[in-house]
Amino acid sequence: MTVETVTRPMDCLHFINGQFVESQNHKTFQNINPATEEVLGVVAEGGKEDVNFAVAAAKRALLGPWKKMTVGERSKILRKIGDLILERQEELACLESLDTGKPYSLAKKIDIARAAYNFHFFADYIISVGTDAYQQDQQALHYAYRRPVGVVGLIKPWNLPLLLLTWKLAPCLGMGNTAVIKPAEWTPMTATALMKICKDAGVPDGVVNLVHGFGENSAGAAISEHPDVDAISFIGEPGTGAAIMKLAAKSLKKLSYELGGKNPNIIFADSDLDEVIDTTIKSSFINQGEVCLCGSRIYVERPMYEEFLEKFVARTKQLKVGLPDEEATDIGALVSKEHYERVLSYLEIALEDGGQFLTGGSRPEGLNKGYFLEPTIITGLDRNSRCVREEIFGPVVTVVPFDMEEEVIMQANDTHYGLSASVWTNDLRRAHRVAQEIEAGMVWVNTWFLRDLRTPFGGMKHSGIGRTGGMHSVDFYSELTNITIKL
Ligand code: NAD
Repeated sequence: MTVETVTRPMDCLHFINGQFVESQNHKTFQNINPATEEVLGVVAEGGKEDVNFAVAAAKRALLGPWKKMTVGERSKILRKIGDLILERQEELACLESLDTGKPYSLAKKIDIARAAYNFHFFADYIISVGTDAYQQDQQALHYAYRRPVGVVGLIKPWNLPLLLLTWKLAPCLGMGNTAVIKPAEWTPMTATALMKICKDAGVPDGVVNLVHGFGENSAGAAISEHPDVDAISFIGEPGTGAAIMKLAAKSLKKLSYELGGKNPNIIFADSDLDEVIDTTIKSSFINQGEVCLCGSRIYVERPMYEEFLEKFVARTKQLKVGLPDEEATDIGALVSKEHYERVLSYLEIALEDGGQFLTGGSRPEGLNKGYFLEPTIITGLDRNSRCVREEIFGPVVTVVPFDMEEEVIMQANDTHYGLSASVWTNDLRRAHRVAQEIEAGMVWVNTWFLRDLRTPFGGMKHSGIGRTGGMHSVDFYSELTNITIKL
């Protein structure tokens, strides 16, 4: 199925108090298809005034019918949203693929399926949420009363637009909050489509609002500094997180941050090489390498190093870089010209630093338009090269041999980031030992990106603040009042 047969590209308006609206000042910006460099549509460019309207609507809605709903009623609405996402799975996958440049098949299988599951998961989860209660001898009974935080600003990135928005919006609504969403400027379409779905699912007006626009001096900053926004859930770069923190500090907002990663993929020589290769192809290049969890620093124990490289390079060469709507495509286009140029600049740095490209490094033949890059494997880089230290966020990995366990742990931790890691070994004791030494929020042993939504998800160091998933999400999106009854 091609994207053209499913949907026409669309223009994106804000969604405020249950209505699709233009910006107050009628400003717009263009949305570009990264695979063709053509204009997909125009997007309303929101600013302070639009954010003020959205926040006011969200604040009013906190006290309306939303407040009176039981948790069971909210759960039903979340379930309905998940169902409607699945009903529109193909259309949403097309929009996501057009916006991001990712393969349509990937968008359908991962992004949209998981977006629906985010709602289905929290529809079930919120039903059984409880709070602490303590009887203090014969003196007193203490119990915690849980309430929504209030108006939550959800500021989101472009790499997994609907998946990541729904990962936050589902628990936010489930716990009775109202939301003002700011999707990434490069990928506005599925968030806009989700607003219609929320309305169709019975979300009362004002509970979910969306303002398009940019970050600094634009909609993102306006949400971050608005005094009536009580909490911010942000996913993006650490630098942006710092900027938001500064703005949010004026009104002491509650913050949840999921930031970047430069994740180590540590392969010991006793691991099962075929399994390692299958998974490492994914953890390196899926979604054009534009996943915060990608294992972009690969460390291989020396006895396996040569064989690993031979097989890894051969398999990487088989990956098909192509148009997002072609079935055979494994790797689509990078999200934008600006990001493409940033990724290419890292390839120049790698060359300057003496790196060798075992494969990739250039635009694939036959794709003369669009932001396409061959999957790239680089060796020979020093640990101080910016390509080894900084998040490239493209289909680019570095591979380094190691001899000792302590050495690879030290190298893996030699970064400001601390999001995730993979460890490959069949030695049980070593698996636990290394996993516990790695400074990261998530460590996968003999796998990658295997998720259970009840588990804590997030990063340490510059990769994030707090955790989400299951009870961690519930805690962020609610406030507790401890009530003490003297007996
Ligand atoms: P980004 O930080 O550039 O932008 C994210 C969002 O913040 C966008 O909506 C943007 O408009 C907004 N923004 C930018 N400046 C702002 C400001 N001054 N005030 C308020 N809002 C502002 O990130 P990106 O390029 O969209 O996404 C890529 C980054 O996200 C990578 O670092 C990636 O690792 C990270 N990421 C992390 C996770 C995770 O779960 N840890 C998941 C996905 C992406």
